[in-house]
Amino acid sequence: MNFCEGCNLACSGERCPKCGRKKLRAVTDEDFCLVAQVDRNFGDTLKCHLEKENMDCVLMPYGTGVRSKFALPLERYLLYVRYKNLEHVRQILQKNA
Ligand SMILES: [Zn+2]
Repeated sequence: MNFCEGCNLACSGERCPKCGRKKLRAVTDEDFCLVAQVDRNFGDTLKCHLEKENMDCVLMPYGTGVRSKFALPLERYLLYVRYKNLEHVRQILQKNA
C-alpha cells in the first residue's frame, strides 16, 4: 500500500487517486489516513468511541467557511485515523452507513 503525503491518502496504485502525484512512499502503520467525510455529531461520537479503544483519530473541520465566520460550528469533519486502524474504522462506518 502506498501513501500520498499531500492528501494523507492510502492507495494501492502508483498514483494518488486524489491529486495525481506519482512520488508516493510506502505507508506505515502510524500514518494518518483520510477515511471519510462525516457529519459533526457522528464525528464526535466516533472520536469518543475510538479513544476508548486507544485509537488515535483526527477530525478536521470541513466546510465553506461561512459558518465559521459567524463563530458557528462547522457541519462536517474530515476524519483521519492511523493506517493500522483504517480497516477497523471503515467497518464501523459501513455499519453506520
Ligand atoms: Zn495526493
